[in-house]
Amino acid sequence: MSLIAENIQLIKQQLPETVKLIAVTKTKPIAVLQETYDAGFRTFGENKVQEMTEKYNSLPKDIEWHLIGHLQTNKVKYIAPFVSLIHSVDSFKLLKEIDKEAKKNSRTIPCLLQIFIATEETKFGLSEAEATEILTSPTLKELKNIKLMGVMGMASNTDSEAQIRSEFRNLKEIAKRLQHFNSEQVQIQEISMGMSSDYVIAAQEGSTMVRVGSAIFGSR
Ligand SMILES: *Cc1c(COP(=O)(O)O)cnc(C)c1O
Repeated sequence: MSLIAENIQLIKQQLPETVKLIAVTKTKPIAVLQETYDAGFRTFGENKVQEMTEKYNSLPKDIEWHLIGHLQTNKVKYIAPFVSLIHSVDSFKLLKEIDKEAKKNSRTIPCLLQIFIATEETKFGLSEAEATEILTSPTLKELKNIKLMGVMGMASNTDSEAQIRSEFRNLKEIAKRLQHFNSEQVQIQEISMGMSSDYVIAAQEGSTMVRVGSAIFGSR
């Protein structure tokens, strides 16, 4: 078995079966993605539109592509034909653009609202109040080609397990409160949280999707 396949298996053993593993392949060459594909894995996460589009074009078409990085509105059109889930919706303007491009492609694009849960200044994301504003906007009903499936968050980059745990717990609580706004377009159920350093904690705190890169492919 290849090292990549071994790493994936080891991580899966630490996760409940209900938690989906997304292999974060950013910066990795096509050959590495092909090797991962050949090992039977089909769910890849990328953080840059151009890189994801190039890889999509070169690889088999039964791969699920997850966009996990910051997305600019003018780049939505490049991924709208094929993206499986956009984890990083951080404005209503972006959501409207995703809807527009999804419609052009006659499809519905599942999305997550990225929520800011860390203490750092640098991480993108909405506050709970801003997320609530989007979910209660009368305009949301007009966006027939998106589905809001849940939330995504990144914990602080800290050694304090207690702090990471409390940030993940907070995201789970926020997701529960946002479920009150469930509707045709809104079905809050996914919680995308957990990376190489904290996926075990995230799973314990109710993650439904972990985004793991370096623990599978080595450091970048
Ligand atoms: C890079 C990245 C990851 C994976 O990080 P690792 O520490 O390599 O597991 C997860 N989520 C996002 C948003 C990322 O940009």
